Amino acid sequence: MMYIIFDELKLRQISSELHKKNKSIGFIPTMGTLHAGHLKLVRESKAKNNVTIVSIFVNPAQFSPNEDLAKYPRPFKQDKKLLENEKVDYLFYPDVKTMYPAGFQTYISVNNLSNIFEGKSRPGHFTGVATVVLKLFNLVQPTNAYFGQKDFQQYVVIKQMVRDLNLSININVVSTVRDKDGLALSSRNIFLNPQERGQAINLYQSLLLAKKLILSGNNSVKPIKKEMKNYLQKYKLIRLDYIEICNPKNLSPVKITAKKSVILIAAYVGKTRLIDNIII
Ligand code: AMP
Repeated sequence: MMYIIFDELKLRQISSELHKKNKSIGFIPTMGTLHAGHLKLVRESKAKNNVTIVSIFVNPAQFSPNEDLAKYPRPFKQDKKLLENEKVDYLFYPDVKTMYPAGFQTYISVNNLSNIFEGKSRPGHFTGVATVVLKLFNLVQPTNAYFGQKDFQQYVVIKQMVRDLNLSININVVSTVRDKDGLALSSRNIFLNPQERGQAINLYQSLLLAKKLILSGNNSVKPIKKEMKNYLQKYKLIRLDYIEICNPKNLSPVKITAKKSVILIAAYVGKTRLIDNIII
């Protein structure tokens, strides 16, 4: 049976009991509206840990005022059922007051990494993410935490925070789960109308195009980006935000693709902002 925890004291007690019994804890922070991508993280945790804890918290601190916080879906009953089916041990489901009581004023900012790419387009976003993730880590005290490659920059930011703040938590990245046609699963895909949904697959297609170019010997970044842009221009509902090709370890942009590079893309499809990436 899955146990649902609402308050921090209870979570601390449970975590401390588990540590006393020498149980490993796998932790997956989410904002709910769970799909097969989240469930892959859960399965990975279940396979590698004695106990799995999932959190569902739509974190206001990571949304800017003009973003979709109020509109963000919250299908709790459905999420609960999905987690029960996966035999998750504990679900932490706090409300906003629990996580940000009146007077809250301490934030974690992972400088540099937080200000590029997603951070440039969404100021404050990664400060909100790092702050809530550190709070959740402090409460859960996990052995392993699981993040999706889909949000690659988020994974790199969290890794950096863990290193900088001497946390003893293993950060694991899990490859992106996609629909049959290649679109990366995202809680935001439900905002796409059928026409937008049809065009959205071209973000991944443009990444595959870049991959093909690189694997056939083109390693100069500028023309690769240009080819991607040309490809995407045909799709009128797509408004590109950025394409970046970088070193996956520290996200520093490269001019020539190296042995291992990550290609990151962000675009609006209609009014919905989507991101994707591949590692080559
Ligand atoms: P979210 O609920 O959107 O905050 O996502 C929670 C976790 O699930 C994050 O670590 C995401 O990177 C991960 N995630 C979201 N979508 C996918 C996907 N399509 N494949 C794998 N992991 C994902």
